[in-house]
Amino acid sequence: MLSRWAALDPRLARWKKDNIYGFLAIHLIAALAIVPWFFSWAGVILFFSGLYVFGVLGINLCFHRALTHRSLACPLWLERSFAFIGVCCIQDSPPHWVAVHRKHHQHADEELDPHSPLVSFFWAHMGWLLVQMESMKRRPLIERYAKDIMRDPFYAWLERRHNWLKVALLSWIAYFIAGLGYGVLSGSNLSDATQFGLSLFVWGAVLRTVVVWHITWSINSVTHVWGYRNYETPDVSRNNVLVALLSSGEGWHNNHHADPRSARHGHSRGEIDTTWMIIRLLMLLGLAKNVARPSPMLANKFNDAGNEPAPEQLDAFKLESPTPPISDLAAKCSNPPVPTIQKIC
Ligand SMILES: [Zn+2]
Ligand SMILES: [Zn+2]
Repeated sequence: MLSRWAALDPRLARWKKDNIYGFLAIHLIAALAIVPWFFSWAGVILFFSGLYVFGVLGINLCFHRALTHRSLACPLWLERSFAFIGVCCIQDSPPHWVAVHRKHHQHADEELDPHSPLVSFFWAHMGWLLVQMESMKRRPLIERYAKDIMRDPFYAWLERRHNWLKVALLSWIAYFIAGLGYGVLSGSNLSDATQFGLSLFVWGAVLRTVVVWHITWSINSVTHVWGYRNYETPDVSRNNVLVALLSSGEGWHNNHHADPRSARHGHSRGEIDTTWMIIRLLMLLGLAKNVARPSPMLANKFNDAGNEPAPEQLDAFKLESPTPPISDLAAKCSNPPVPTIQKIC
């Protein structure tokens, strides 16, 4: 167990109270979805479609594959539009999201990993978001890991003064206003129009946000605990079928740690990667360029089925292959040292 858990001694921990109360309140609002008064079929449709629109386009395609790993390049207007959608998921600003994730790749399952389940499953899932850590101070973190993202004035503006959060909350309110407006214009009385607006708010905005949170957090927790491994990466990442299906491809996490630059996370036919399919569509439309494919070295060895390593094997290769220190983090995260990764035989 990593020693960071010691920092969570209640006598020593400095809790992020804003996050704790915020997560609690938002989960409680999302729970209103079980109250029949907040139900509408339009809200349910917005919920399910929103899982894809916001989770896949905003988080998977933009925050993760385009911004963090530079796996593809979109026209600036499209990249910023996807980033706007990602911001509405309330997973922090693009520079901060990118910085945290690049740090995860640099130190995966080591002491400085922001969210390794080797501390505890809950820590990896959401515990790390509730505690202030010296090593995760916002400005130095972004300065070190996401300088390139901050060069874009739009992303720098989102990072300033919690603008990303204001944008996200306004998008939530827009759901209510749209529902209320539709109800009034279609002849409903004010009470029914308000109920319709609140149903869109609870199902389409808040519940969708919470479910996308837990899907994203499952990548950090579940796919570093359960699943199979294709590659002997110097971490404990796994390919988890359930998370991969729920997250539209992000659950092929061992593949991703083996080849972070690749825009395609599912490396075999059976490893369905919906986000990759959307990237392929963007390529066909001429809206995605410089798309990184899985390294030929990995692809050539892929037909040799990987085996589950014993814990002592994991310890052994971890000791033999410590993550090398790097100076250019943006370059490292988008261009990993693939030759050091070997297929498990
Ligand atoms: Zn990981
Ligand atoms: Zn990644």
